[in-house]
Amino acid sequence: MTHDKLRQIPSVDSVLAHPMIIAASHNIARPILLRAIRHVLDELRQAIHQNESIAIEIDTVVAEAIASAEQEMQSSLRKAINATGIILHTGLGRAVLADAACEAISSIAYGHSTLEVDVESGRRGSRIGHVEDILKNLTGAEAATVVNNNAAAVLLAVNTFAEGKDVIISRGQLVEIGGQFRVPDVIKSAGCRLVEVGTTNRTRISDYEAAITPDTGLILRVHPSNFKIVGFTEEPTIAELAKLGKEAGIPVMDDLGSGALIDLSLLGIKDEPTAQDSVRANCDVISFSGDKLLGATQAGILIGKTEFIEKCRKNPLARALRVDKLTLAGLEATIRLYYDQENAIKAIPTLRYISRSLSQIEKLADELSEKLRSILGILVDIRIENVMSQVGGGSLPGQNLESKAVTLRSDHFSAEDSINWFRKHKVPIFGRIENDRLIFDVRTLESEEIDIIVDRARGLVDME
Ligand SMILES: *Cc1c(COP(=O)(O)O)cnc(C)c1O
Repeated sequence: MTHDKLRQIPSVDSVLAHPMIIAASHNIARPILLRAIRHVLDELRQAIHQNESIAIEIDTVVAEAIASAEQEMQSSLRKAINATGIILHTGLGRAVLADAACEAISSIAYGHSTLEVDVESGRRGSRIGHVEDILKNLTGAEAATVVNNNAAAVLLAVNTFAEGKDVIISRGQLVEIGGQFRVPDVIKSAGCRLVEVGTTNRTRISDYEAAITPDTGLILRVHPSNFKIVGFTEEPTIAELAKLGKEAGIPVMDDLGSGALIDLSLLGIKDEPTAQDSVRANCDVISFSGDKLLGATQAGILIGKTEFIEKCRKNPLARALRVDKLTLAGLEATIRLYYDQENAIKAIPTLRYISRSLSQIEKLADELSEKLRSILGILVDIRIENVMSQVGGGSLPGQNLESKAVTLRSDHFSAEDSINWFRKHKVPIFGRIENDRLIFDVRTLESEEIDIIVDRARGLVDME
């Protein structure tokens, strides 16, 4: 009878007294163990209600409770391995930081810092001061400031210049960047009116000119980032917009999105504007992300004319969008690397992944496939295939990079099962599925990660 069976369920106390639980309690806090035990016993109770012939084994209960408690002890936000072929993967934390940035973050995290003091005078300083001069030197801008992310930078600037006024923008630039960032919505939430000009594919300088009224607060250009219109297209250059703005006495802003600080054609990527280009075009305010092509921490960088950057800084919203010390530490260390461009390309992982040569990629693919073959044997068909990596993070659509992937296909388990197996690891491993095979694009892998993948793959054999 179910009733008898339920009575055989061990008590919480008897599970707690089990030698394996006692051993586990050295590493796992008691409330977590208790919760796990209760949870496993509850599940057992429910299982018995459904099927009274189920076996009750204390060792199984103990093992399940420990596994569940260990899972709870594990950090939720933790290291992952990105073999998706998307270099700037927002879900996987966008830019991987340079060693210098990691060291700077760690050193600031461990103690007090000079965040808002001027060491020379001993007086209160500005947290932005740590990066302002570097950003000015690198871009040629008169002034710079930093906020939480680029969405915040756009919100702050649009609100500063056009609250209660019009923001003129081309219909071809009313983009959604992803993660709830839609340009028209941001303009509205900044308290501004959107004035659309031109058409999706063609907007002329005369369209902007005709839209200017005494109510105009800002002319905004937004880099379309994640899509590309090809064919019969036309848009004024940022220099033309800046000139129009000067004549009309209206600030002009360029939301660059990615914000490259070096000419990416050096790395084989075409048509990505640099922040310096927009400064030279005489644009008043320019914004870009810290953690896209720049390869730093999540931040929104605003550079431009002193008068306009000052206004943004004085906006009360700036306090709410303030950047924290760890972000600044990582940002400062990363942008310092750009003083030596050649070194920056080697030291900043985002740029290093973009510029990895096919022969370097091939070497990684060979290593991974050979190691996988040696443990998976004939169970899995392991190949090296040509694939395309993407820069990602809403950057450089249509500019895919030739890469190599190690692909796994088996008659013993589905691609779905294997992708889940690799993901449900203490260091989750992410690939992608195409035509029922699991694909690991090796472009963004580091050597030590190859061994983690191989180690996890051992379990695939038992999964059948
Ligand atoms: C990515 C992007 C943003 C948002 O930047 P976050 O740093 O992700 O907040 C805004 N504008 C453009 C054009 C972008 O590409």
